[in-house]
Amino acid sequence: MIVMKFGGTSVANCEAITRTISIVRGKLEQKPVVVVSALSKVTDMLYKIADHAAVKNRMEASALMDQLRARHIGLAHELMSDTPDYCRQACTIVDRICDDLASFVGAVCSLGELSDRSKAVIISKGEYLSSNIIWCAMNARGIKTGYIDARKMIITGNDYLKGEPDSAAIQTKVPGEVSAAYEGNDAVITQGFVSATAEGEPTVLGRGGSDYSASLIGMALDASAIEIWTDVDGVRTADPRKVQNTRCIEQISFEEAAEMAHFGAKVLHPLTIEPAVNKNIPIYVLNSMNPEGKGTVILQNSFIEDGVKSVSFKENILVINIFSTKMINTSGFLKKVFEIFSVNKVSVDLISTSEANISVTVDSSQKIDKVVEQLSAFCDVYVDEDKSQISIIGKNIINIKGLLQKAFAPLADCKIYMISQGASYVNLSFVVDRDVMTDAVCQIHKYLFENEGCH
Ligand code: ADP
Ligand code: ASP
Ligand code: MG
Repeated sequence: MIVMKFGGTSVANCEAITRTISIVRGKLEQKPVVVVSALSKVTDMLYKIADHAAVKNRMEASALMDQLRARHIGLAHELMSDTPDYCRQACTIVDRICDDLASFVGAVCSLGELSDRSKAVIISKGEYLSSNIIWCAMNARGIKTGYIDARKMIITGNDYLKGEPDSAAIQTKVPGEVSAAYEGNDAVITQGFVSATAEGEPTVLGRGGSDYSASLIGMALDASAIEIWTDVDGVRTADPRKVQNTRCIEQISFEEAAEMAHFGAKVLHPLTIEPAVNKNIPIYVLNSMNPEGKGTVILQNSFIEDGVKSVSFKENILVINIFSTKMINTSGFLKKVFEIFSVNKVSVDLISTSEANISVTVDSSQKIDKVVEQLSAFCDVYVDEDKSQISIIGKNIINIKGLLQKAFAPLADCKIYMISQGASYVNLSFVVDRDVMTDAVCQIHKYLFENEGCH
């Protein structure tokens, strides 16, 4: 079996879905489990609907929900114009999902209060809409396809907006659900991103979580491959939206890919790699707009050559600077500090320490108010919001002579606030002012990949 995940742009409209269905048709012999995201931009819209509902903006929420319904109904008609029965079936399901959403959002508007649980219900509708339409369209085009509600098998803890997968429960549930849905069919389809607690409470895996869904399903099925179909030719030496002349990386290791994703490369959800590593399942990153392309394969470390593979970045980070003279010559101070991060579930990326100062970076999407408040009880705390983090990633980069010189040469005029080289020698990260980040990333990329290289 293989798992094929199609992201938002791969299912954005009739043309993209038609292409996606033909890619799946070419893989039927490998028994695909198809995992789909919401149509491009739909999840963003659902977040806006949820935000409007939270402040009783009924009119604005309704207008967006009308757009959502019209887009999906229009798509069903376009995709299934030759097969009216399937088209009707798809439209009935779309209407039902949109009606449910409208009454749920109506209730939230009346209360003017949005819990994380309610938000999870609202933002997961995009995947339900897309998966149902594509399910009907695949059957309409002669691919007998079974449907699975991911909430029956992707089991998480009760963090509603960032559900932590329960690996054991998922491994128990997925094979049974998939084989039941496969009965008499050539393929099965399910939603990415959505999940549920063991009690059936709705959760989601966090933004970009469909990749993670695919690798969890792949792990549970012992799949022979996990394919992430997106809008670029594989994993590249840098984000092609920011940097010119990037190259496709043919092969990278699980570890390199995990570091890249964790340190900002949006092409994969940061946790996608972990389930695949456990079962040693190759992950392919492929372009649904260029299905003949080779893409990138992510494999075990031993297959991969040493050398720099990519430059990634996190544009918006927070640097938390913690000052205290009490840490001089005392033990247990760091423990006290990091316990506060742990209790408040704030994860730290980079750390640097000096005699009386600790600086840590965290992703700006995290809520740090409580951390700052609790640290301030025994330290001086200063949060810097105008910084970005750049990471150079590659296997055994420590062995590359002159890497630091090469990396920092283009930054001669920039201030560098923190530097960290991971213990695994896969990642060299540093912090710069946000307003120089893009230029710095482009210069470093040029220096490392467009001159004599660094391999
Ligand atoms: P999907 O909707 O298919 O999940 P995403 O938008 O989440 O797609 O991820 C694909 C995007 O990731 C690309 O369009 C690209 O801009 C971005 N990206 C960032 N870093 C990289 C990288 N190193 N290689 C390839 N793509 C990258
Ligand atoms: N639709 C979700 C999002 O936009 C999940 C995903 O696309 O992976 O975050
Ligand atoms: Mg994505």
